[in-house]
Amino acid sequence: MAHYNVTYSCGHSDRVQLFGSYEDRQRRIEWFQQEAVCPACYKAAKEKEAAGLFGDLPPLSGSPKQVAWAEKLRRDAMTDVQKDIQEAKSDEFRDYLIAIAKRMIAERTEAKWWIDNKVNGQNARCRFEEETKISA
Ligand SMILES: [Zn+2]
Repeated sequence: MAHYNVTYSCGHSDRVQLFGSYEDRQRRIEWFQQEAVCPACYKAAKEKEAAGLFGDLPPLSGSPKQVAWAEKLRRDAMTDVQKDIQEAKSDEFRDYLIAIAKRMIAERTEAKWWIDNKVNGQNARCRFEEETKISA
């Protein structure tokens, strides 16, 4: 185990902890440099991708504190949907996921809804499917 200063393919640097054999660590460093982007760039790219897929996210209602938290939870939920989309086994299911995510964004604009689902440990999309009785 050792710490390394690595430069990602996006040009940003970070100090990372690497495990494994010397060869494994060297391979990992090469991967950082040639393929990986830093966590901040990764997050920004995901958000940009989400904006392309789902359109603009409408403002949420609630107290400023609730809204700030719910906006983060909504972004996390969209990241979950994006992951499901990437892993979708068919175009139909992929289209369904995009459509339901768009509906969820448009119809769930109370900060409280996003927070309640997080607190109850529910996946926002599954919860929305239950509430609206839609499924793939
Ligand atoms: Zn970066």
